[in-house]
Amino acid sequence: MDIVTLGETMVLFTPDSTGLMRYANSFSRKFGGAESNYAIGLTRLGHQAGWISRVGDDELGKAMLAFIRGEGVDVSQVKVDDSAPTGIYFKEIRSANEVRVQYYRKGSAASRLSMEDIREDYIAQAKYLHISGITPALSESCHEAINEAIAIAKKHDVKIIFDPNLRKKLWTEDKARRVLLDLAAQVDIILPGIDEGKFMFGESDPETLGRLFLDQGASLVVLKVGAKGAYYFTNEESKLVSGFKVDQIVDPVGAGDGFAAGFTSGLLDGLSIEQAVQRGNAVGAMVTMINGDVEGLPEKYEVENFMNATGEDVS
Ligand code: ATP
Repeated sequence: MDIVTLGETMVLFTPDSTGLMRYANSFSRKFGGAESNYAIGLTRLGHQAGWISRVGDDELGKAMLAFIRGEGVDVSQVKVDDSAPTGIYFKEIRSANEVRVQYYRKGSAASRLSMEDIREDYIAQAKYLHISGITPALSESCHEAINEAIAIAKKHDVKIIFDPNLRKKLWTEDKARRVLLDLAAQVDIILPGIDEGKFMFGESDPETLGRLFLDQGASLVVLKVGAKGAYYFTNEESKLVSGFKVDQIVDPVGAGDGFAAGFTSGLLDGLSIEQAVQRGNAVGAMVTMINGDVEGLPEKYEVENFMNATGEDVS
């Protein structure tokens, strides 16, 4: 396995109409989860990815598993839990600028993920462990599962990549800040967005944030700044790597997961940090051009064509 990740994926229903959801009668069904989006992004780019989770013993759980397996992700570590349902959420499109999310995930099968689901040999053989800040917010047992995965990765020298993926709806701000800062102190690479940096440190200047994250413990910090691209910071160097120009943004959700997949793919291919960030920028930009979280994730040849055709632009 090149990467192993863990976390919840939910069934996503989006009304086919815009406006109050109480009037919606038909919905499109997809699947959404930051960690599985990331794993799918990596398989599209030609890498081997494994996803640890739980799904309910229900029709939607079976459909989800078939979908993620069909994308080439190893799901051998996903448990079918017959005592809780697969989580669901709805994305209510109130207007082009206002999207509301409604979760039906409390007590879901994935929220019952626990230390017992984490197999030492599975993580030990991976090159990278990927974690997000969503999983520890789901339940105590999920938080313990993350801690166990981190302990195993450290024991076996597996590098840890952390995407904070702040979800304010899932926990109190105090607890979120405390846990995210604690995780930031334990990982090798951290991929915050500028808003997450502001939430965690109360600072929004990129250079200051880069330094604060490095001081926290990571050896590589990649700070995403939307259309502008992303900064990277190590103890030796720092640089803004410009984003790619997108003519029309169709759906910005999932850009961060795509970025993480593109960036990790660059590291796996032995690119320099700057080139890996560039690949992350390209994948992030490509995801915004297609509706859906995973539909826009490119294959390797597509991202290469996009990078050659577009070049760095936005300044
Ligand atoms: P998400 O909303 O998926 O959680 P995020 O907040 O983690 O995303 P963003 O900074 O929005 O992260 O986007 C991640 C990366 O995707 C950016 O660093 C950039 O490379 C690319 N990207 C995002 N939006 C655009 C855009 N409008 N134009 C070009 N590239 C973009």
